[in-house]
Amino acid sequence: MEINVLANRCPQNHPCPSTRICPVGAIKQAGYAAPTIDEDLCISCGRCLRSCPYGVFQQA
Ligand code: SF4
Repeated sequence: MEINVLANRCPQNHPCPSTRICPVGAIKQAGYAAPTIDEDLCISCGRCLRSCPYGVFQQA
């Protein structure tokens, strides 16, 4: 499973809580920018799909 990050859904004005729910630390955030996923680290657990109230993380 690949995860798409829909950056245009992110208000980009706060620390992304999803960086803390990823069990392998694959979700990164530079400043308050929209998060990114390190595909080399992601284990496709799907937790981020349910974590963001804006629906930024979507199954590809
Ligand atoms: S699917 Fe799981 S491992 Fe991959 S970025 Fe989301 S929370 Fe992290």
